[in-house]
Order: sequence, then C-alpha cells, then structure tokens
Amino acid sequence: MQKGNIGVTTENIFPIIKKFLYSDNEIFLREAVSNAVDATQKLKTLALRDEFKGELGDLTVHVKNDPKKKTITISDRGIGMTEEEVDKYINQIAFSSANEFLDKYKDDAQSIIGHFGLGFYSLFMVSDKVEIFTKSHKDGSKGVHWSCDGNPEFTMEEYNKEDRGTDIVIHLDKESKEYAEDAKINELLNKYAKFLPIPIAFGKEQEWKEDKMVDTDKDKIINNPEPAWTKKPADLEEKDYNEFYRELYPMGDDPLFHIHLNVDYPFNLTGILYFPKIHNNLEIQKNKIQLYCNQVFVTDSVEGIVPEFLTLLHGVIDSPDIPLNVSRSYLQADSNVKKISSHIMKKVADRLQEIFKNDRKQFEEKWDHLKIFIQYGMLTDEKFAEKAKKFVLLKNTDGKYFTFEEYEKLIKENQTNKDKKLVHIYTTNKTDQYTFIEDAKAKGYDVLEMDGQLDVHFVNKLEADLKDSTFKRVDADVVDKLIEKDEVKDSKLSDIQQKNLVPVFRSSLPENSSYIVSVENLDENALPVVITQSEFMRRMKDMSEMNGGMSMYGNLPDSYNLVLNSNHPLVVELVENLDKEIGDELKKADEAIEPVQKEYDEISTKNASKKEEELTEEEKQQRTDVQNKLDELKQEREEKLKAFGKEQKIVKQLIDLGLLANNMLKGEDLNKFVKRSVELLDK
Ligand code: ADP
Repeated sequence: MQKGNIGVTTENIFPIIKKFLYSDNEIFLREAVSNAVDATQKLKTLALRDEFKGELGDLTVHVKNDPKKKTITISDRGIGMTEEEVDKYINQIAFSSANEFLDKYKDDAQSIIGHFGLGFYSLFMVSDKVEIFTKSHKDGSKGVHWSCDGNPEFTMEEYNKEDRGTDIVIHLDKESKEYAEDAKINELLNKYAKFLPIPIAFGKEQEWKEDKMVDTDKDKIINNPEPAWTKKPADLEEKDYNEFYRELYPMGDDPLFHIHLNVDYPFNLTGILYFPKIHNNLEIQKNKIQLYCNQVFVTDSVEGIVPEFLTLLHGVIDSPDIPLNVSRSYLQADSNVKKISSHIMKKVADRLQEIFKNDRKQFEEKWDHLKIFIQYGMLTDEKFAEKAKKFVLLKNTDGKYFTFEEYEKLIKENQTNKDKKLVHIYTTNKTDQYTFIEDAKAKGYDVLEMDGQLDVHFVNKLEADLKDSTFKRVDADVVDKLIEKDEVKDSKLSDIQQKNLVPVFRSSLPENSSYIVSVENLDENALPVVITQSEFMRRMKDMSEMNGGMSMYGNLPDSYNLVLNSNHPLVVELVENLDKEIGDELKKADEAIEPVQKEYDEISTKNASKKEEELTEEEKQQRTDVQNKLDELKQEREEKLKAFGKEQKIVKQLIDLGLLANNMLKGEDLNKFVKRSVELLDK
C-alpha cells in the first residue's frame, strides 16, 4: 500500500475550501458526474481513432445513493485510471491546481462560487471521505483503490476491480446528509445534468401495479443526451423547438418564436433562444436563459454575456469559450464575451427582420407580446435601435399596425401643424380617454395606442429620433388645438363676456387639484367644458413617478386645464342669464372701477420715466393707495361673478360632465352629480 501527502503547498486547504464554497456546495455532484461523462467521451474518442479496440458496451453513467450509509456513488465505464494516473491527476494536479486557483482568487470568493475550476476537489465540500475505485481501459491494467478522508493524507492500493472505469464514492459529512436523499439528488441532476451528452441513470422506471407505483428493473435515464441545440437546424421542425422549450420550462406556454444560434468563428457558441409569451411581470423573472459549457449547466445568470434587454428571452446558450472562473466585471471586459454579446444581438435583430419581411401577418399577431422586448432593446441599445427601426410597429386604436414610414405617410396630410411638425396623437387608456379619442377621430386624426409599460420612455425616444415629429396624448388639449393650425374661429361672445366666465366657473372647481380656466372658441358641437392636462406637465410627472417621485414635479398637485367652449349654446345661454341677472350690478362695478383705473394708469405713465429710487415717499404712498383701491374694487366685481356662479347648478353640472368625460368624477362628487342630474331633469 502507498501512503503519501497530497501535493499542496498550503498546509491544510480543505477547511478553507469548505468555508469558501459552503453556500454553493451542491455543485459537487455536477463535478463528479461531468468527470464521469468526460472519461466516457474520452474513451469514445479513442475508439473512434482506433486507439481503443475493446468493446464499448453500455456507457451509461450510474448515480446511486445509500441513505443509510450516507454515500453517493458515481460509476462510469470510461477510460479509468492506472495507479500512475491517479497519482498524476488526482494527487498532484487536481489538488495543486485547486490550490493555485484558490490563491489567485482568494479575495474574490464570489468568482469561485458556482464556477468551474475545482473539479474533483469540490467533493470535499460535502464529504469527510472520498474513495476512488478505478481500472484503466488499457490492456492488463490493475484496479486501484484510493481513499482520502478530508485532510491532505491519502492511501492508495491495488484493488481487484472487474470492469474498466471509475466508481467515485462520496461519504457525506454530517452537515451534508441531505444530499443522500433521492429527491435532492433528482433535483440536482435535473439542474446540472439534464443535457449531458452521455446517458445518466438514477433510480428505476416506475409502473402501476395494484394501486400504486412500483419500481421496474429498468434504469431511469434522467437526461437527454442530444438536446435540440446540439442538432442541425435543418433537422428540426417547429414542433421540435416547442418540445425542447417545454423540456426547459415544463410549465411554459408555447414561445412566440425561436432563434437557433450556431457560431464557430471567432468563438464557439451554440444555443436556442426563444421569445416567450409574456403574461405578467413576475413571469419575466422566473424562467431564464441557461448557460451551458459543453452541455454541462453552469448558471442561469447570463448578465454580461447576453445584451441586457435579451436577458428577458428564454432558452440555452452553450459555449466552451466563455471564461467561467472569473468575476462578473472581468467577464464584461473580456473581448470575446463582448463579441458574443453583440453577435447575439445581431442574430436576434436579423431574425426579427426576417420574420417581419417574410410573414408580416404572423409578426403583427405576435406584436403585442414582442413589443416590450423590442422597445426595451431600442431604449437600451443604440445598435439594436438602428436595426429595429425597420420593423418596430406602431398600433392605432383600430388595431392596425404601421412601420414608422407607413405611419408618417398616413398622418402627413392631416396631422402636420403650422410649424410643419408631424403631430402623433396617442392614448394611454382607450377607456378613460374614450371621449377624446372619438373627438380626434371625428376630426380625421389617427390615434396611436401607447399603453405598454415602456411607452412613456418610448415616446420620449421617438420624439428625439424622428425628426420633425412631436407626440401628444389625446387629452392634452381640446381637439381643435391638439394640432395647431393657422385657422381662427369666431366667438359668439364678446371679450368681456368671455372674461366674466372665468370667475363664474372658478367658483365651483374641485378643491384637490389645481385648474387653469380658459375660454376657447371651439366648434358649437364640441363639448361645453373640456378638461385637459398639458403634455409637458403630465410627462414630467410620469417620469418623476417612475424615478421614485423625488423630483419637484412629483410633488406638485395634478394640474389641469378647464377649457370653456364659448360657442356652445349652454355656455352662451349661461352668459345671457348672467347679463340679465347681474348685468346692472356689473355695470355699476365697472363704473366705479373706471375712474380709479384711469388714475392708476396716469400715475403709472407719470412714474414710468423715473427710476424707483427717484420717487418721493409721497408718490410711492399714493401709488400704493390707488393700487389697493383698484384691487379691492376688482375683487368685489369678481366676488359678484363667483356668487352668481355658485348659484347656477348648470356651472357645477358642466364641470362635472367634463370630469366625467375624463373618468375623473368619483365618490362623493359622483354621487352629488347623479342627484343634481335627477333634480335638473325633474324641472
Ligand atoms: P478537470 O476535470 O477539470 O480536469 P478534476 O479535478 O475534476 O479536473 O479532475 C482531475 C483529473 O482527474 C481529470 O482531468 C481526469 O484526468 C481525472 N479524473 C477525474 N474523474 C475521473 C473519472 N471518473 N474517470 C477518469 N479520470 C478521472
């Protein structure tokens, strides 16, 4: 029997590695199984090259557990090892390279965890003893039994092993007993070994017998050794891709479409990416792209390897060229990885372009699901945005789809404003903004539907990118002013009558928001009162809400415009009543104001030539007195108008109708409105 010390420089490296890797120690099984697979594939290669002339036979790798003894055994019929090889690969290289590795990355525990590089050594994370029973495929080899109990001492002796290949026996330590459970092993194999290229057996197939499931003698193969991405696209049909999708995500809906990646220069990469159907936000997080290295699962966090917006896709990427035992920041700076990332972006864009070109109907049908990916991509990746311009779609309220170019043609004639800008009108809520949409359509305008999660940002981007274009939400203004043209409409009311209306309506405004009241000469068939919210203010608020409401706009109360239609018969009638009821009083008030106003104007003209400091105290005082007097009289006049307004049910009713058209009338106010309406009908 041979005894010796494993060739490590650090006195006792085991406790360190145990501590370091504790959180991710489940990878031990991946390492053991993938070593068995490697050894098997090496033998297959030798056989192909005629360097191994024996019978290959059944090459299945077997995983067995013994919950009582707390052991897991991984057996292969691969190349096996001679005594010299165990000495070389296990005693010398395996341990010393692990040591080197640890040394290099000891300050970066994160980069060690979950990544390759530890191999055989990682078995000690979960065990207090590891045994190797192995026999080389070479003719005349003798079996070897190697054993090590978790410190750098090992024993190695001859052992009578019948079959070629290797059994690795892992004696789980106290803290890791859970790994000897069937369910746990199944879970780990399913995670790490699902697509390994050699069949892996764990447990037995089951069948129904007398009311219960019982084991048969048939081994259960837990993996698919030939997953779709390793095959040629020409050998696969749509249904094969969908089946593979369900292998990856058993609960998933059919994907929208797939992209088969296959690169061999300047790096090796295969894989299949899927555009998933997205039903809600939570789902986006759940299923992720899985990264493999020669069919061994590595991770499902692909940030840095795949462009950020494509991390929302599903599927598999397999590349031996992605450096795995390095930290994330290093990964992102790696030029190979950058190439991979931009290659994937290009592939995705090309595929979308191809579907758009060849099957526009399908593309449109899937657009509502695709939209978020494409917008996200355009917002975060200029190169993608450049490519996507050709196929990104705009959808209008009639459910029709347009490219930018097509849409420009559609609206050019009707929706160009007096400054020669193309005004895109959009809605964020077809139900709430219904009245405005109908008005806009009646005027011959087209209305876009922009109700997606990213549309607020997307509108900003489009405005910056499309030249001579602006975007206005359909309720940003009364329809006549949505697109400003040079035409002027006459009013049925005089200037004074229009001005009088403002305090009349201000008397009855809702209190919780701020309103700017104005009078416009709209069409007499338009609504009497329209409530709008300026595009600028609304966008500022939207943006600041998205950024956590910290900016000044976030704190402002909602501000709206209340626009009175000076040509609507109800408004005209109200003004006539006003003239009848308080016309005389207003006239008296105006007569009182007139001389004071005149005096004030005279003083202003007189003082205009002087600087403030040249005025005498007396002059200043006189000016203040007249100003105060004037304000007081004007205030009195305004109070009369407000008092009149408060008494007119129609004023409140018209405001409420305006609010109602915006879906802004709620609770108590809505209740009052209903009651008032009944009263008014009852007259
Ligand atoms: P790696 O697999 O990355 O080379 P490991 O530490 O996992 O590193 O393994 C070290 C070496 O031990 C392997 O390269 C291989 O030569 C040998 N080895 C490990 N497991 C087996 C096995 N099941 N059959 C044959 N050789 C093995």
